[in-house]
Amino acid sequence: MDELIKRAARDLAAAKNVAALTGAGISVESGIPPFRGKGGLWEKIDPMEYAHIDAFMRDPAKVWQVLIKEMKDIIDTARPNPAHTSLVRLEKMGKMGTIITQNVDGFHQMAGSTDVIEFHGNFAWQRCIDCDRRLETGKVDMSEIPPRCECGGIYRPECIFFGELIPPEHLARSQMVASQCDVLLVMGTSALVQPAAYIPVIAKEAGATVIEINPEPTPLTGSVSDYLIMGKAGEVADQIVAELERLL
Ligand code: NAD
Repeated sequence: MDELIKRAARDLAAAKNVAALTGAGISVESGIPPFRGKGGLWEKIDPMEYAHIDAFMRDPAKVWQVLIKEMKDIIDTARPNPAHTSLVRLEKMGKMGTIITQNVDGFHQMAGSTDVIEFHGNFAWQRCIDCDRRLETGKVDMSEIPPRCECGGIYRPECIFFGELIPPEHLARSQMVASQCDVLLVMGTSALVQPAAYIPVIAKEAGATVIEINPEPTPLTGSVSDYLIMGKAGEVADQIVAELERLL
């Protein structure tokens, strides 16, 4: 693993245009469980019953009670970890451009990253499904579940549920970022959710070096990614940045 840390630092040192694709695993060290993998939410609940837009429209109270309220409680008390701050350090060194994140916790921006595409939206805002009024999640009155807007409509998080489309501007910009970078860091994603999982393929086909950081192999490992650094995102990223600081 030490060799791979050094290799990643060398690749970053030589790169002119670095981007990152991050997933739920990058926030695990903050205490937010991922969907898949060990300790993931799907061990407890069925995604199709709670995270699909049809499930929400069928029974919003159930989805609010079991998934959204739990996510809110967890995100409210968690904070960014060294994986997020390492990407900020890379940006300050001029070695990180755009971060494409599948996460909805807003931690990249909270840590200080300035160019983040929130591929699956952000949990910080709710939107009324009838009148489109937006309200910060922290200001939503949750004494009634599902929470309702003044118009009587139900609030939903500004996140993409399964079965919904990625906003076209996010998709187009992410594809452009992937096709223009020369190194793509792929951190904490199972690479099972499309179309996000296709971003590394675009980068690879355009000639980028794709570096995975994950405690477990993914479908990208050994085919799309050039190498996998097996470990926790916070620990690995911190070591890569320290090695890069030594090199530059
Ligand atoms: P996923 O849940 O499918 O997979 C998580 C991945 O992270 C796994 O490959 C796992 O091995 C890896 N992992 C676990 N601990 C890690 C660590 N410490 N460091 C690095 N990697 C680690 O996540 P996904 O691929 O992002 O896709 C699922 C969807 O889940 C995304 O759309 C995302 O919006 C949503 N989600 C987001 C959050 C969040 O915002 N924090 C939390 C849960 C789910």
